[in-house]
Amino acid sequence: MTNFSAKDRAQIIQTIQNEAFDLIVIGGGITGAGILLDATSRGLKTLLLEKKDFAYGTSSRSTKLIHGGLRYLKQFDIQLVREVGHERATVHKLAPHLVLPEKMLLPIVENGTFGKLAASIGLKVYDFLAGVSGDDRRIMLSKKETMEQEPLLRTDILKGAGYYAEYRTDDARLTTELIKTAVRMGAKALNYTEVESFIYNGSNKITGVRVTNNNDNTQFDVKASYLVSAAGPWVDLIRKKDNSLEGKHLYHAKGVHIVVPFERLPLKQSMYFDAHDGRMVFAIPRDKVTYIGTTDTKLDENLDALRITKEEVTYLLDCINHVVPSSKIEMKDVISSWAGVRPLISEPGKGPSEISRKDEIFESEQGLISIAGGKLTGYRKMAEKVVDLVVEKVQTQGKSLKNCYTSTIALLESPLKNSKEASLFLKSIKALLDSKNLPSDLAFYYVHNYGAQAKKIIEASDSLETLLEAEARFCIQEEFALTLNDFFIRRTGRLYFYIFTIEEALPIVKKVFQQELGYDATAISEQEAALRKEIEAVTVFI
Ligand code: FAD
Repeated sequence: MTNFSAKDRAQIIQTIQNEAFDLIVIGGGITGAGILLDATSRGLKTLLLEKKDFAYGTSSRSTKLIHGGLRYLKQFDIQLVREVGHERATVHKLAPHLVLPEKMLLPIVENGTFGKLAASIGLKVYDFLAGVSGDDRRIMLSKKETMEQEPLLRTDILKGAGYYAEYRTDDARLTTELIKTAVRMGAKALNYTEVESFIYNGSNKITGVRVTNNNDNTQFDVKASYLVSAAGPWVDLIRKKDNSLEGKHLYHAKGVHIVVPFERLPLKQSMYFDAHDGRMVFAIPRDKVTYIGTTDTKLDENLDALRITKEEVTYLLDCINHVVPSSKIEMKDVISSWAGVRPLISEPGKGPSEISRKDEIFESEQGLISIAGGKLTGYRKMAEKVVDLVVEKVQTQGKSLKNCYTSTIALLESPLKNSKEASLFLKSIKALLDSKNLPSDLAFYYVHNYGAQAKKIIEASDSLETLLEAEARFCIQEEFALTLNDFFIRRTGRLYFYIFTIEEALPIVKKVFQQELGYDATAISEQEAALRKEIEAVTVFI
């Protein structure tokens, strides 16, 4: 059990004001979460501050693939493909219930991005760079084999396909499990705590931060020797607070995904396909839905109030209807969606799809270290680079610290060992649900969200209502869920993948949040209004 309860939040805020941290990490996305775990495991006393909820930013709104990025190979970004490609297997090993092997189909079509030879060589190089071996190595399929593999594909322009290995995940859950693991190892982490400004000493070096508690609008200060900003798309805003925004800056690229019921697009498997305009797009079946994305356009909106346009949805509908014309998917079929922002490092003269996804570190004279760019998949390596830098500084002051060993730190207390164990566990959870007369098709949701922790949630329940109560209680007491949005969006992914369950679940979840966190009627109805606003944002297109 992780002692990471939202009920302790006020107490944690009290104690950290009297402490001095080695390191404060700004931003609770995958990058900040990775840094928190790496730094804590090496012996640094570390605190993470997140202005909204953990994974509120890009890290709950990606394509949710742990992938090498076939596209980057085409841009000859060999180093990136090698690094993130290798990381896939490592991240899978750390959380096999959450990072699942996912075979990807790459249909080869007339006048498409890849011809047969280019796909064959490209995928071989892709496997080679990532060190893929055995049955996971790519195979090339004939037109007939491709049609068997995915019967819904349009056949008139089809020439065959590449079939290769990737992994898929839930980005927000991965971020949460990283933070929980760090907390188990002694880290502190707080959501709804926004870094407002920096505190400097007489030599103009940062010695701490002033923080707003966004839950009650109070402010407090915390001291730290080193500061890392992992604020994703907000990195430049933080650099501005430090008066150090100079040289390279961020380029914000917006990416939208749409979600349709699985019955409307019953793909047998995931694919990465040529859209009507020559771009490449993913379609990924996931339990009761299939999602399609992504767009890639320059962002001109407020980072904290993204909306999805009818034009963006129509574009993605055109993409999927181009390859699966028989499905005739329309705007009314779209049951959910999400929009995220890629924090890319600007490269003058290049558009969003051409800019490299590699990460970069900026260091200000005042001591602010910022990291931006990169991929979900490469979070562990990004963390290693930043923490190496901090450790080097700390060691010059005579403190001895460990080398990075996050490739061996499993992300659950009693982790499932591998995919085989994860699928056996899934079977046992189906049986457990069955024995309690609960629908066994809930097993996928519970196992892939919570891994071995699913057992504890289900064992405490004997009806759908008590199951939901146990889940909400678990998210509050062990995953720091503070609001209804934290629960419905980032701890459970329901807003995106199970939006049809929210109305029925809401009264029960509200009751648990009131009991556990003492919210009065006004507070809980404000939270419900905030949830309804999120539901509107993912279902009503402007
Ligand atoms: P974020 O997740 O945005 O985290 C930054 C956090 O900082 C935010 O939560 C924010 O609230 C917080 N913050 C900001 N200001 C403050 C402040 N003042 N005080 C405290 N906290 C603050 N990568 C992959 O590997 N695979 C994919 O399939 C993939 N698909 C993608 C699809 C799309 C559409 C997009 C947009 C990106 C995709 N990526 C993918 C890239 C990946 O999602 C990002 O690289 C990654 O999530 C960035 O994480 P981050 O932690 O750096 O930023």
